[in-house]
Amino acid sequence: MRFLPVFLDLRSGPVLLVGAGEPARARLRLLLAAGARVRWHAVDANYDNSIEGTGGAAFERSDADARTTDLSGVIAVLCAGAGSIGHAVAARARGLGLPVNVMDEAEHSTFILPAIVDRGDVVVAIGSGGAAPVLVRRLRERIETVLPARIGDLAAFIGRWRKPIRARIGDLPQRRKFWEGVVDGPVGAAVLAGQADEADRALRALADPAGDLHTGGAGFVTLVGAGPGDPDLLTIKALRALQDADVIFHDDLVSPAVLDRARRDARRVAVGRRVGKPGIGQDAINLQLIEAARDGQRVVRLKGGDPLVFGRGGEEIEALREAGVAYAVVPGITAGLAAAAESEVPLTFRQQALRVTFLTAHKARDAEAVDWSALTDEKMTVVVYMGVTAAASIRAGLLAAGRSPLTPVGVFARVTRPDAKAVVGQLDQLPALAAQVDQGPAILIIGDVVARSAPWRASAIPQFLSNFGIAAE
Ligand code: SAH
Repeated sequence: MRFLPVFLDLRSGPVLLVGAGEPARARLRLLLAAGARVRWHAVDANYDNSIEGTGGAAFERSDADARTTDLSGVIAVLCAGAGSIGHAVAARARGLGLPVNVMDEAEHSTFILPAIVDRGDVVVAIGSGGAAPVLVRRLRERIETVLPARIGDLAAFIGRWRKPIRARIGDLPQRRKFWEGVVDGPVGAAVLAGQADEADRALRALADPAGDLHTGGAGFVTLVGAGPGDPDLLTIKALRALQDADVIFHDDLVSPAVLDRARRDARRVAVGRRVGKPGIGQDAINLQLIEAARDGQRVVRLKGGDPLVFGRGGEEIEALREAGVAYAVVPGITAGLAAAAESEVPLTFRQQALRVTFLTAHKARDAEAVDWSALTDEKMTVVVYMGVTAAASIRAGLLAAGRSPLTPVGVFARVTRPDAKAVVGQLDQLPALAAQVDQGPAILIIGDVVARSAPWRASAIPQFLSNFGIAAE
């Protein structure tokens, strides 16, 4: 370690900034963000007064020669884009024992600025001693993705409660345990979900002299969209919720690859239904979520795709509300959008497809209940969930309502999974196409835009021939 990382309080005195152009402005923004009082010697002949991105914060600009300026009281000197003037100022400041940084010139500097992940009160600094800035940048990106956006809020929250909790729990090991429970538990989850009031309420209950400090208080439920299967399509929030969970209630539809990303010692409960297999029923699921939360656990309800698209997430939200259990919803990539992306179906296309409809037609009976006449607009793309077994009824409904039998359609099975399969054809052939994709979930897309998809292009010639009743290989 050549440089010792320290966190400097820059509010205690003026910081001298010498330099010009964007590098100096970037330094200025950084210093002002840290609350520094800045004296800026802008050694730029073309300097104009428009400083963007400084949020109107106060700084003092000096026209005096930086090389001879009075350094008394100055607590640090930074040079950026100041050339030989910067070197001269740096040499003088070093002589006075002041901390000096010359941007990108470690040999002139006594300190260097790390890459920063800034989350308010929580700041992570990363350095490589100036040796490998690109590597540092990559590391910073990695840390940005694992640190919750509101981790600074959590630090501030704990800061606010420190004193009252110290008064309430005198014993240090016990107090430490209490705070670990807050950080790792539902209270922390509520803060990170942006529910400060809820967190305050939960912590107050937790610290209530009448309450039991060890039960952990009320839990927290996160309804998480697992996406279509590829775990790399999880959102960062979803991943965090999975890694923080005590218990995960998941559907059958959730892929094993996604579950692999969850915390190893989280309890997993499969509650899903599947076609032909009843599952435990929605009321029982709601009850289990509520009980686990009341037990003080961090509960994840993991659902395929997006929780609020044909996922009965709405019912779970209502049950949680009614039970007074705190919750948050993390969206996921719904299967219809994933199918479109994977096979390059533009769901909307200028002048050709102006609307998209998502519908479900699980059984022939559901298909009969659909108002197909509302779906005959040629400029509407129709995305059907759970439609494989009802393919014949969907075809019949659309044709009877007047949609052309030549309308391009696609069946997209197990999208984003290793065994994904897409077949395309025309509305007329829909049941036969659906029969070609084997087991597993599939999305149907109906509309002219399917003819722009990758599988359509790949099969363009056989398709063309079949239009004329010529069978192709
Ligand atoms: N909430 C889910 C949908 C649940 S309904 C979402 O937003 O995606 C279940 C239906 O979703 C399945 O019958 C199928 O039509 C579709 N589906 C889910 N995952 C899929 C996948 N990987 N590939 C194709 N279709 C999928």
